[in-house]
Amino acid sequence: YSSLFMATTLPRIPCTKLALRNFDMNYSLQFGDRWPSIRIGLLSEQKYCALINNFAQTEKVIQELELLNAKDFIYESRQRSLALELVIAAGSSPKDERSGCLDVQDEELRPDVPIDGDGARAEHTQTVLLQSSFNYPRIKCYTFSKGDISRFSPARLDSMGRLSHYLMDAASLLPVLALDVQPGDEVLDLCAAPGGKTLALLQMERCRHLTANDLSTSRTGRLHRVIQSYVPRELCAPGSLRITCCDGRDWAEEESTYDKVLVDVPCTTDRHSLLEEENNIFHKMRTKERQSLPMLQLELLIAGLLAAKPTGDVVYSTCSLSQLQNEYVVERAVEVLAVEYGVNVRIEDLSFFRGLFQDTFYFFDGCRVGELVLPHLTANFGPMYFCKLRRIT
Ligand code: SAM
Repeated sequence: YSSLFMATTLPRIPCTKLALRNFDMNYSLQFGDRWPSIRIGLLSEQKYCALINNFAQTEKVIQELELLNAKDFIYESRQRSLALELVIAAGSSPKDERSGCLDVQDEELRPDVPIDGDGARAEHTQTVLLQSSFNYPRIKCYTFSKGDISRFSPARLDSMGRLSHYLMDAASLLPVLALDVQPGDEVLDLCAAPGGKTLALLQMERCRHLTANDLSTSRTGRLHRVIQSYVPRELCAPGSLRITCCDGRDWAEEESTYDKVLVDVPCTTDRHSLLEEENNIFHKMRTKERQSLPMLQLELLIAGLLAAKPTGDVVYSTCSLSQLQNEYVVERAVEVLAVEYGVNVRIEDLSFFRGLFQDTFYFFDGCRVGELVLPHLTANFGPMYFCKLRRIT
């Protein structure tokens, strides 16, 4: 009786506190000395980006953003990579050019490559660029530079009733960019709501057809509303876009025809769990659900891989720092696919991709597979883990 009494009268420990305890225990082991810096980033205000709506009248908004010194980080990355390509085409080492007029910085090169003379560095740069047949999409996304913590103003309606921009964590765009959608691709977004990544996919105007799915009816409703507020009706016709509401784990049984599949799974949403009591996965009543997340993630990734056609690409992503939800899920999925389905999958090296965007984000250099954006006080995006897998057979 007394323990029942205690259980009902003791003040409830806030979920955010439980989350912090859990992260302190696990992430201090996973990240060692880096954890205090990641922790303070996670507990501080997150940075956003403004994904410009290509389907709205946005000249004024863009002018205002540029006056505030916000930069389109995708455009900036493209300019730097073009500059490097010029350097290589000219046959000189990046170091030679750095003293010249091109703005080529050390950050373009991987810091982990030893500087044993110009040769190694230049060769590395060349490899990076050769690997990066990355086809920059037509999307504009403004961020404030490292150290600038200005905020964006809310989106505005244009004369056609479309919103000017969508505020999201800039790191959330990386899984979409890593998918590298090509014109004419058939694309599946398996866990799509509320729709930030779906919207980015639509902004590219490269998909022949996009299927956006989510298990939750209410969240699928939000996805519908986001799309209606940003995208012209003709691009939402069934021939271009299909929104479905089913359990992604059952997808493989229906079809396996996609060129590109995005599997942006439910996770411990680390930042949300530390800051918001509402809908917190660290609530005592949700312990089982939290503990079974890696299994759900594994099943979703397997379904995504089976939905891709051979040679198709899948990007797996979470907004958690947890190795159990990130690398372990990816490695286990590759194993299960081979052993249980006879399907071979290759994990792609994204280090060139990290090179393209490391002026904007802090990437962790200790992932066995995939890439992880770490929250940092001066560039407080993420966490965002993403890993690209190619289906071989
Ligand atoms: N991609 C979304 C975006 O960019 O806005 C965010 C996706 S959120 C991280 C994960 C989503 O997975 C949630 O909307 C949740 O409803 C959905 N989900 C959970 N279990 C699922 C399942 N079994 N099948 C499909 N979706 C699921």
